[in-house]
Amino acid sequence: MENIEIIEVSPRDGIQNEKTILDSQTKLTLIEMARDAGAARIEVTSFVNPKRVPQMADADEVATSLPRGTGQHIGLTLNQRGFDRALAAGLDEANFVVVASDTFNQKNQGATTEQTIAALRNIMAQPHPIRIGVTIAAAFGCPFEGEVPLDRMMQVVDACVAVGPVEIALADTIGVATPRDVTTRVNAVRRAHPDMPIRLHLHNTRNTGIANAWAGIEAGARALDASFGGVGGCPFAPRATGNIATEDLLYMLDRSGVKTGMDLDKSIAAAEWLQSQLGHTVPGMVMKAGGFPKIMA
Ligand code: ZN
Repeated sequence: MENIEIIEVSPRDGIQNEKTILDSQTKLTLIEMARDAGAARIEVTSFVNPKRVPQMADADEVATSLPRGTGQHIGLTLNQRGFDRALAAGLDEANFVVVASDTFNQKNQGATTEQTIAALRNIMAQPHPIRIGVTIAAAFGCPFEGEVPLDRMMQVVDACVAVGPVEIALADTIGVATPRDVTTRVNAVRRAHPDMPIRLHLHNTRNTGIANAWAGIEAGARALDASFGGVGGCPFAPRATGNIATEDLLYMLDRSGVKTGMDLDKSIAAAEWLQSQLGHTVPGMVMKAGGFPKIMA
């Protein structure tokens, strides 16, 4: 099997829903730990309105403090203003979010899906020295509209692919997907856009996250978002919970012979450290059980 990229998203998705607001230095330490553990790319922050997401108020400061030119720092953006901030901060990549349902797009970023795609089209039409990927949020279901029909998701995917991003991510923002949904939707994107790299962003809200990850890989997704300890959640989706845990995903992939470039022991150590910073037990399981047992002498 090919290599799989793990994108560490704890510095962004992981801590944006936490009561404890980590200071910039702690965030930089977390990013450093992700880099040291071998994360292929790291989503370091999101450039959103600090009044709406106070956990990300220091986005510009965190991003400008990172070492330049490593080719792996991603900033999440919802609109032109967010994109301009990501560019000014010297990040390597912008992850532009388009929500598959209008109601959620409206609540998340104050515009319709179509208006957000129009903003993306404008951004892509300007010179942009950084990579731009697109995440289709609520690709498997919406907390406000319910089912997101495959046709609707594909309309949004098609419109986003047409503007020329480097990658399309399907996000299960509220953790409702099942492996068969993942297979169906990844296959649909692959059939329509065979050359477009596919990334998955999964939440383990209903304990289907790791099964979904495996289904996605088998269907051809080549990059997966995950967060140390399985922390995470969306401030604008009711009852949203954490991402799939990086170290749980890594354990499954390591034991299945899939290469990621990440180190399990370092990932577990990072999850434990993050747990101590947040001051409460986090959902990750491998950090509690440990990796495959080592034979005692
Ligand atoms: Zn998320």
